[in-house]
Amino acid sequence: MKPAPFEYVRAADLDQACAMLAAGDDTRVIAGGQTLVPLMAMRLARPKRLIDIARISDLAFVRQEREGIAIGATTRQCVLERDAVVRAAVPLLAKVMPFVGHAAIRSRGTVGGSLANADPAAEIALVAVTLGATLIYRQGTASEEIAASDFFLGPMMTALPATACLTAVRFPRWADARVGVGFHEVSARRSDFAFASAAAQVALDDSGVCRRLALGIGAVAARPLRLDSVATALEGTRVELPVARAVVRAALADIEPLCDLHASADYRRRAATSLAVRAINDACRAAEAAHAR
Ligand SMILES: Cc1cc2nc3c(=O)[nH]c(=O)nc-3n(C[C@H](O)[C@H](O)[C@H](O)COP(=O)(O)OP(=O)(O)OC[C@H]3O[C@@H](n4cnc5c(N)ncnc54)[C@H](O)[C@@H]3O)c2cc1C
Repeated sequence: MKPAPFEYVRAADLDQACAMLAAGDDTRVIAGGQTLVPLMAMRLARPKRLIDIARISDLAFVRQEREGIAIGATTRQCVLERDAVVRAAVPLLAKVMPFVGHAAIRSRGTVGGSLANADPAAEIALVAVTLGATLIYRQGTASEEIAASDFFLGPMMTALPATACLTAVRFPRWADARVGVGFHEVSARRSDFAFASAAAQVALDDSGVCRRLALGIGAVAARPLRLDSVATALEGTRVELPVARAVVRAALADIEPLCDLHASADYRRRAATSLAVRAINDACRAAEAAHAR
């Protein structure tokens, strides 16, 4: 199929893009086009006007800040995969990047496009929720911030106003000396969208006791979930896997897992439990190795 007729405008800068978005009239931003173009070709999306923000250079950056890093919305996914600043400051983000689609998709797909698209299985969204990232957007001339936990509302649904442009995302850096990360997912083929995924970041003290733990589950519910009850139960303890399994299982007992042709709700819950325990275990082992250095 071919897309329905639409007008295409390449915005010279963010001011122009936001002014055109504010004018409304069924206008959508296009960044990498990796999701929007197929949706338009299948006529599942029929915007009257596309505003291309891909070449607004002010929106493509990775910047070190006092308490973390800021990443511009049009930064391509392949950039994060290789960026030394990202690897050092937010290792969990670096860890998941090879799982975001295929190399060809990551070479065009953007960070902002992935967040705005809000696929429940998207790895960047999972890390944003797990680590408590902040998303920044412009509406007209006003710049607003929103916590990742409030941004994702459901499959392909966000709190981003229709006339707003996502400009950046800020990830916090853990200052602890011994930080380790773990990530696992199940998908039909490598780099396809996952049926279930889990991301963990752990900080250990000198004696191996867990000081901080963040655990997130993706592709299982309508949006990425951060399991704070697991952190509460394991922080201050030497993490033991049977205990971790029990608290993850309890945390997932009350969620409503997605159910589709690929995986049943029961499968997703069981897979998420195992993936979460493996991710926690990997994160602990990596934090211990950081200890030994
Ligand atoms: C075969 C295939 C496999 C994939 N596998 C995965 C996977 O395993 N994991 C994963 O996470 N992703 C996967 N993706 C999706 C991929 O990561 C896309 O790049 C991403 O979802 C969209 O990014 P984009 O820059 O291409 O956005 P676009 O396609 O340009 O836009 C997507 C949506 O976001 C909106 N948007 C884009 N940028 C902004 C902005 N700055 N402000 C406001 N709205 C904006 C657009 O209006 C549109 O609604 C896959 C895609 C394909 C085609």
